[in-house]
Amino acid sequence: MSSFLTYVQKAKFDNHFSRLPDIFYTKMMAELKAPKPYLVHFNSQLAEDMGLDPNLAQDPDALKPLYGQNLEDPFCSLASVYSGHQFGVWAGQLGDGRALLIGQLRNDSNQIFDLQLKGAGLTPYSRRGDGRAVFRSSLREYCAGEYMHQLGIPTSRALSLFTTGEKVFREEAEPGAVIARVAESHIRFGHFEHFFFHEQEKFIPILLDYVIEHFFPDLKNSPTRSEDFFALVVKRTAELIAHWQSVGFCHGVMNTDNMSILGLTLDYGPYGFMDHFNPHHICNHSDDYGRYSFAQQPVIGLWNLQVLAYALQPVLDFDTAKKILESYSTLFSNCYDRLMKRRCGLSDTASSTELWKDLLLLMQQQKIDYSLCFYYLQKDRDQFSNLFVSRSVDSWLKRYDEYYASYESNAINPHFVLRNWVLEHAIRDFEDEGSSAPLYSIWDLIKNPFTVAKDKEYFLKPPTLEQQKICVSCSS
Ligand code: AMP
Ligand code: MG
Repeated sequence: MSSFLTYVQKAKFDNHFSRLPDIFYTKMMAELKAPKPYLVHFNSQLAEDMGLDPNLAQDPDALKPLYGQNLEDPFCSLASVYSGHQFGVWAGQLGDGRALLIGQLRNDSNQIFDLQLKGAGLTPYSRRGDGRAVFRSSLREYCAGEYMHQLGIPTSRALSLFTTGEKVFREEAEPGAVIARVAESHIRFGHFEHFFFHEQEKFIPILLDYVIEHFFPDLKNSPTRSEDFFALVVKRTAELIAHWQSVGFCHGVMNTDNMSILGLTLDYGPYGFMDHFNPHHICNHSDDYGRYSFAQQPVIGLWNLQVLAYALQPVLDFDTAKKILESYSTLFSNCYDRLMKRRCGLSDTASSTELWKDLLLLMQQQKIDYSLCFYYLQKDRDQFSNLFVSRSVDSWLKRYDEYYASYESNAINPHFVLRNWVLEHAIRDFEDEGSSAPLYSIWDLIKNPFTVAKDKEYFLKPPTLEQQKICVSCSS
């Protein structure tokens, strides 16, 4: 037996995706042969959540599957096929071009953890890519998943971050890496699109059955299961994007192949948490026309759901799907409104909506730091006022005091923000100096974003002018 599995305590291991028909995937071992694997970080909290023995991290043999080695029985590793619309255009067949699904663990609370290696080498779906992931993007994804999870936002997470010892070529040679990514499922809108747009519609009910059986078991016996399923995807997507907007998260590449069927944040690439508030912020340097700018995210969520509705026609009448889509904007607005009121500590009345919207306007005009603004609003009035041009926020504060509900602000406004400059600092120190120290410091903050760690104030600052110039793109 694989020594990884000796650390699977109460959990059960399976790969139920591998029981779908062959057309859904290619079963294969990892093409990557990491010449010099090095464990940069292990997420012991996630290991515990998964029902794994945390001692796993001390056993080099047990860790091998996490960089693609020792994937023999009972693992059943595979790359799945999907398609998608990228930047609004049908992109045809894509698929796991550098990811390998190695199976699912189920912990004793029956939670499912789909385990996927990202950066594990070439697959039949690699197209012109090399099947590799670079360290900088892997660290960004590794940190982002955990941070979003701590903020209470549905997301994939990652169990381990390894460098492989390979050089990977992008604009220049970079260290290669592999993460063991974990989510309830990695199924995307694009999995459904694939079969619809390739005229293999008979596989759509099979995929839907699979998704319902494992992830929406309550719908199993519903006479309107396809409708109910789509309504849930619409709701989860609307609410996910409301959460993104409320924390100033910009995904950067909201292509349909990056949209989770379970409403999780997936595929962290050139994402960014906004520094100063700018609704037109474009975090992805490759997004020339701002299709995925911050303010566009809600509308793109709807666009992507329309594509999904189209692909679901073999199981769901398009007119019925369109009716369900009409609920999207209300679901989004209600959730966003509720979250923004919580961020401000406003009581939940119709008239208080205007207040947070007016605050955003002031923040936009004066380029106020998005996260610090809400943090100070509830923690320190003087610091809050000092963010703005002298007295310009006074009349807003006067109105605010009429509605202020004095909510308990714990676990609402994070003090630590996973800003690009912070990530860049950890990347540079590792790549240039071989030091993981900043990553470990940041990890402590990631795990406790709402509490102020006394000795780590350095990482709490907004970026300097120089740091604002850091740009991230699709290259990863
Ligand atoms: P992304 O933009 O990362 O969501 O990737 C879009 C598609 O390209 C997916 O099918 C990925 O698997 C694939 N892809 C991205 N980078 C690589 C790479 N370096 N090698 C192979 N496939 C890749
Ligand atoms: Mg992707």
